[in-house]
Amino acid sequence: MIVMKFGGSSIGSAERIKNLAEIVGAYKVKKPVVVVSAVSGITDMLIDAADLAFKTGKVETKEIEKRHRELLSELNLDKNILDSELQELKEILEVIVKIKDNSAKMIDIISSFGERMSSRIVVAYFNSINLKAQNYDAFDIGFITDSNFGAAELVPGAEKRIKQSLSKVNLIPIVTGFIAKNEEGQITTLGRGGSDYTAAIIGSALDAGEIQIWTDVDGIMTSDPRIVKEAKSIPEISFDEAAELATFGAKVLHPKTILPAVKKNIPVRVLNTFNPSDNGTTIVKECENCKDVVRSISLKKNITLFNITSTRMLLVHGFLARLFEVFNKHKVSVDMLATSEVSVSLTVDSKNNGHDLNELESELREIGDVVVEKDKSIVCLVGNGMKDTPGAISRIFGIIAKNNINIDMISQGASEINLGFIVNEKDTEKAVQCLHKEFFGG
Ligand code: ASP
Ligand code: MG
Repeated sequence: MIVMKFGGSSIGSAERIKNLAEIVGAYKVKKPVVVVSAVSGITDMLIDAADLAFKTGKVETKEIEKRHRELLSELNLDKNILDSELQELKEILEVIVKIKDNSAKMIDIISSFGERMSSRIVVAYFNSINLKAQNYDAFDIGFITDSNFGAAELVPGAEKRIKQSLSKVNLIPIVTGFIAKNEEGQITTLGRGGSDYTAAIIGSALDAGEIQIWTDVDGIMTSDPRIVKEAKSIPEISFDEAAELATFGAKVLHPKTILPAVKKNIPVRVLNTFNPSDNGTTIVKECENCKDVVRSISLKKNITLFNITSTRMLLVHGFLARLFEVFNKHKVSVDMLATSEVSVSLTVDSKNNGHDLNELESELREIGDVVVEKDKSIVCLVGNGMKDTPGAISRIFGIIAKNNINIDMISQGASEINLGFIVNEKDTEKAVQCLHKEFFGG
């Protein structure tokens, strides 16, 4: 059997749902277990509704209701099948208003409605075209977690229960992604984007032949196709490479979410619902054909570079601890880091979730001399072959030098399969394009 997971954009419209049914129908002989996310945008809307109820006392579900009712009507389905969920959603928002509680526990209950509703629509549509399916809320088939609301983890023994429940099913099971319950029966979630995790857990529990993650791009690409028009999908990639790539730009999936599958050596294939005949990218534990020096080039714009120099730092312990304490205090996360005995360079996202970088900067001045450089970009190359190919690095920087691009900072991850460097934002496209040309042609 296989697991097929469909993200929000695959369920975003009646047309997309029809397309999804066609894809699942084509894989029917492989005995798919289907995992679905909420309709695109709905999880955010649910969280906003909870926020609004908490802050203003208003219960507002019109838009959420409209999106779902439109799907039901466009798919010619019974318009009342979500009435009880929509009613319950309102009641819980009323509770938030009354008891003034917007804890993670409440947010989990509210955000669970996205998957509970999308899965019911998908099942109703499958059955209407005679693709016999049955809907399962994940918590009814063994998804029992700890009580870490918003980022819950399965309790021991859960996988066994999931296996037992799913081995009894006859019709195509359509399972809610993302949601679960704790041992007291309270709703929990596995964290944003958690449907991939649901799929990987099911795949691992059932020893699936493959886990398919259906998205809206052709798998993992050699670079961002908006910047490099010759970018193409990578047929096979190792888990380590995929994990490095997830950090900058190529946010196809969060590496943590597929770990259960990788541990059991189950291939995870990323596929495109808009282009189902493309083979996409298969992520495997060890990759025989992944010896290329560079597999993918990603980028991240809007970077601010901090250079902190302190002669006091020389041979003094605790300096880096003090430095990072400042970043920690301001909740600013660091992307890249390079250090010498007397200076540290590090980069942060300029937008940085709205946190104030000026305050951070003035506090850093208490530690050492600080130079801040804005409008920078990270260019990041990933490839297993970089580890043991002499001259690989000089080939990379040779190309950059030939194109007259200045580099502000360089950092290589401990895994040695990742090389990142900082350039002026205006040079980003040129840097990525010339590297892509060198390593992938075109
Ligand atoms: N619907 C959830 C979210 O938006 C889970 C998912 O899409 O994987 O985060
Ligand atoms: Mg998603």
